[in-house]
Amino acid sequence: MWCVWIERAPLRDGLARTLRPVWPGVMLSRLGRVHVGHPTRREAVLPGGQWVRVRNRQAGIGEADLALAQGLLRGTAAQAIPQPKRRYLGREVVGWVTEVGPDVTLVQVGDRVVLTGEPLSTCATLSLQPPCRPCATGNPALCQHRAVPWSGTGAGWGDEMIVHESQLFLVPDALTDDQSVLLEPAARAARAVLHRLPEPGMQTLVIGGNAVGQLLCATLKAMAPSAQIVLATDEVHEAKLAQRLGVNHIIPARAGQISRKGAALTNAQTFQRRGTTYVLGGFDIIYDCLGTTASLAEAVRLAQSGGLVVSVAAPARAVRVDPSLVQQDEITIVGVAGAGSEPPPPDAKENQRGRWSSMAVAARLLRKKQISIDGFITHRVPATRIRHALRQARSGVMRLVLTYE
Ligand SMILES: [Zn+2]
Repeated sequence: MWCVWIERAPLRDGLARTLRPVWPGVMLSRLGRVHVGHPTRREAVLPGGQWVRVRNRQAGIGEADLALAQGLLRGTAAQAIPQPKRRYLGREVVGWVTEVGPDVTLVQVGDRVVLTGEPLSTCATLSLQPPCRPCATGNPALCQHRAVPWSGTGAGWGDEMIVHESQLFLVPDALTDDQSVLLEPAARAARAVLHRLPEPGMQTLVIGGNAVGQLLCATLKAMAPSAQIVLATDEVHEAKLAQRLGVNHIIPARAGQISRKGAALTNAQTFQRRGTTYVLGGFDIIYDCLGTTASLAEAVRLAQSGGLVVSVAAPARAVRVDPSLVQQDEITIVGVAGAGSEPPPPDAKENQRGRWSSMAVAARLLRKKQISIDGFITHRVPATRIRHALRQARSGVMRLVLTYE
């Protein structure tokens, strides 16, 4: 068994950060924080009765894992949560179950499964009763005990992983491996859309044309076909894919440009004062899939009065948002941390009107071909070449997938 993890090592991290201006790839090199190797003592046995061993088949290099690997997330309040000494990477993965503990009830040997998010501790993995409120309501990604060290080993980057059965989603037979490996970002896109389903004629803006941004456009098309969809991106390959998905307009994602073009498209009025721009009018719902210092501030500026801003990508730095806009325009800002519990999709049958998991919503969209993933997986690299793959995944790549023998 081999896997990929990052480890807390302030001195080593500091050295790598110092070298980064002259050596941009240092964080992903052997001098950086990414470790590739055998996980030692725990790999031979399952840590408890509800744990499962999974043989990985393919894994995606997603933006969130890559940001962790590169040490890009700094200076935010979330960084204050004690980090586990070791954090395993690769939350986008499909594999099959090869061993189950005696108390496992949700999966069997031979089942095809995906991870539902980054493997961290939850009330289920810690066997805590009663569970905390987020866990009790089907949102383990928000568990109040996630700072407790996790008992599992490995994740998607590596040939095997040992995870708790509650951290797996059983893949429907109808889905291909390529669809399955994109289920985790598709589930986050579904959660973002279901926060407030756009009404007919509403104008939506997706900032960032990365895989999650594209899946969001596709999910909006499927669940709210009469909403207008505008995508902000500066990347040609992202714009091309979004055009195929049927977005209505593409605008630049650069700070300043995005407000100007976005305001023009929505017939909003703009006012300038002392270098800041105020937009009266704008989009009904805005999804920030970039998480840069500028993107969330632009999203709040461009949100219509009473509008909603959904923060989908983890901001890499503490972001300054003008609170007067939130108050004066009664804007709602919500986050999407990972898959959780959702209201039913709009076309669910009468007997399916209860809560759904985000993973089930996404799997249904893919199974019914309501969203297509053609053109999403642009590169495939044997997993043994992981460092090469990480360097390749940095720019101009929609989704690079690691393949296992
Ligand atoms: Zn919990």
